[in-house]
Amino acid sequence: MEEEKVVSFRKKKSKDNKTETPELEYCSFCKRPNTQVPKMVKGPGVNICSECTLIAVQYLILDNGLVSKEAQKILDLLWGVTKK
Ligand SMILES: [Zn+2]
Repeated sequence: MEEEKVVSFRKKKSKDNKTETPELEYCSFCKRPNTQVPKMVKGPGVNICSECTLIAVQYLILDNGLVSKEAQKILDLLWGVTKK
């Protein structure tokens, strides 16, 4: 009989004695904390999680059926292109 292999992901548990929780950042759009989203993009006064980023980019791109200038700006920011 084959045993089903169960892969367990080791989550990093802070074994520090500190009870302080890590700094929580909330997505300004879906209001989820950074502990519940894959990644969080921090901006000045606002945060956006990776999922909302994708939604936002999709929205901008689909807005005109092609990449608008605003979408391009965001894409540039995401890919870390040169500052202007
Ligand atoms: Zn979000």
